[in-house]
Parts: sequence; C-alpha cells; structure tokens
Amino acid sequence: MDGKGSHTLAELGEFGFIGRIRERFPAPEGVTGIGDDCAVIPQRDGRDTLVSTDMLIEGTHFLRDDIPPYRLGWKSAAVNVSDIAAMGGTPTATFLSVALPPGLEAGWTDEFLRGFADLSKRFGVALLGGDTTASPDRICINVAVLGECPAGTAHLRSAARAGDLVCVTGTLGDSAAGLKAILGGVERDAEIQALIERHYLPLPRVTEGLRLAAAPGVHAMMDISDGIGSDLRHILDASGVGAEVFVEAIPLSPALERVCARLGWDAAELAVCGGEDYELLFTADPEAEKALDIPHTVIGRILSGNGIRWSGNGRSFSGFDHFRR
Ligand code: ADP
Ligand code: MG
Repeated sequence: MDGKGSHTLAELGEFGFIGRIRERFPAPEGVTGIGDDCAVIPQRDGRDTLVSTDMLIEGTHFLRDDIPPYRLGWKSAAVNVSDIAAMGGTPTATFLSVALPPGLEAGWTDEFLRGFADLSKRFGVALLGGDTTASPDRICINVAVLGECPAGTAHLRSAARAGDLVCVTGTLGDSAAGLKAILGGVERDAEIQALIERHYLPLPRVTEGLRLAAAPGVHAMMDISDGIGSDLRHILDASGVGAEVFVEAIPLSPALERVCARLGWDAAELAVCGGEDYELLFTADPEAEKALDIPHTVIGRILSGNGIRWSGNGRSFSGFDHFRR
C-alpha cells in the first residue's frame, strides 16, 4: 500500500475519492468524462450522447418503511433524468439494475415499476435494459440514463466566468425539510406532507434545461442534488473562479417559510445545505440573464479568485459529502 492508501474514505471525502478515480482514468480526447453531471460522448451525426448513473441504497437514500414504492420508482428515474437536464440535453433511455431481498412482496415491485414508468412516460424516456439480483437484506437500485444534445452544446460545470450571475430555477430547501420531517417523526399535516412530497416526487427540470441551453450567454449549469453549498463549489472548482452568494435572495417556498417559523427550523440552512431539490443551478452573463424567459432567481455572482463568500447575514455553509455525514 502506498502512503495515499492509508487514508480512510471519511478522511478522503467523497470528492477526494472521486478525484483519485479521475486521476487514474483520464477521459479520451474529445470526451467529457468524470466530473460533470453526465459524460459527453461525441457521435458522428452531429450529436453528443450524454450518459450518467445514480444509485439509491436503502438506509442511505431512503427508508423502506417510509417511502411508498411508487414514489421510490418515480424518484429513481427522476434523479437520473435530472442529470441529463443539467447538461441541457434530452433524455432518451434508461437501464434499471436492482438488488432485491427475496422476501420482498410482488406488490411492492409492481408499485415501484408503476412509479418508474410514470416518470419515464412524462419525459418520453424508454427503459431498455438493466440487471436483477438478490440482496441479503437491503434494496439497492442503480439507474443509468442516456440522453442527447446537438454537438458541443452540453452545458458543463467548467463554463462559469467572472462577472456571470449565479441563478437557480424554482425554490430550494423543501426536499430537505421533507426529509427532516420524516426523520424527526414530525406530525404530518397538509403542509408538512407537501414538503415530504417534494422529497419523494422530484420533477427534473428538463424543459428548463433545454431552454437555458438554447439561450445565448448561459454558461455553466448543473442540477442541485447535494445543496448549493456543495454544488456551487463544484462549478467554481471546475471553472477556476469564486462566487458571492446573496443569502437573503435564495428563493424559499411559502410552505417552507411557514413550517420553519412554526418549528424553529433554519430555512437558509435547509436551502443551502439540504440536497435533493433537483432544481438547476446556472451562471449567465448579466445581459443574457435579463433576456431569459424561464422563471429563475439570481442568488449571486461569479468572481475571480476562489471559494464562496456568503453575503447578507455573516454566515457560511458547507454541503453534503457521502463519507462525512
Ligand atoms: P451527480 O451528483 O451529478 O450525480 P456526483 O457528485 O455523484 O454527480 O459525481 C460527480 C462526478 O464523479 C460525476 O461525473 C460522476 O460520473 C463521477 N463519479 C462518481 N462516482 C464515480 C465512480 N465510482 N467511478 C467513476 N466516476 C464516478
Ligand atoms: Mg448532477
């Protein structure tokens, strides 16, 4: 074992680990490999193929007794399709691999597939294959997704420029609040239930991604899976820039604000550090931003330098790392 091998994964961190894989497997010329929402593989027909894969593990990403199987099926497809949206691409196909405990009821899997099918139908995505195996106890789900875009139009994390505005679609934090309610056993009135549904039934921003990709002056783009505290850092690192974020400008839903006021939860923390919103985070030059015709909110600006300056209330935030919870 070399000196590098003596670290635990917790010390290395999720992204340190991915960095090591990336060092060992540089992408072939002309291909975007590890480090973005999707790999981008040029084809001969003037199109690029987009590919991504995401895993959901029982106990880590969901609690079997809590999430209804329909919603788990929907979410498994949605979080993958979201990575195609993040590039400004059109999703085309998925592959579904599952490891399931043999004692699982057939009714559970029927509902899971119904949810997966409904999300797929909504976005015109075909399930073309996968793999099935037994698991001793936990449910493991892996989905691979394919998509496409005109050659050279995929919006990479590395395209942010100093002077760009930092923008998001939708509102942030509902999904994290829903998860907090689930884990804390909060009584589920209609408002709490609505937040939980945002956690269970994310809607990938495919249409928005396509329109943003077609707009001139939109630069870096990614989907928000780990919270902007972590995800914006990926854009900054990939682009070699820094950012100022206006904490007070981060869009929150009225439901989130009311629930946080009622339960004493920190809405800004949920919006910045909580993940799984699956909204789009993008940068655009200020003239282009003015001309955008999709609903979005400006939450900051790109600076030369590095790191994030959180302005507004003197706070700072970090994001999610699978190995450092
Ligand atoms: P996302 O949140 O968009 O799904 P991740 O943060 O999971 O992206 O992954 C970041 C990048 O690292 C992606 O390009 C992904 O393909 C790559 N990656 C993650 N895990 C691995 C792995 N085990 N082997 C190769 N590439 C990986
Ligand atoms: Mg992503």
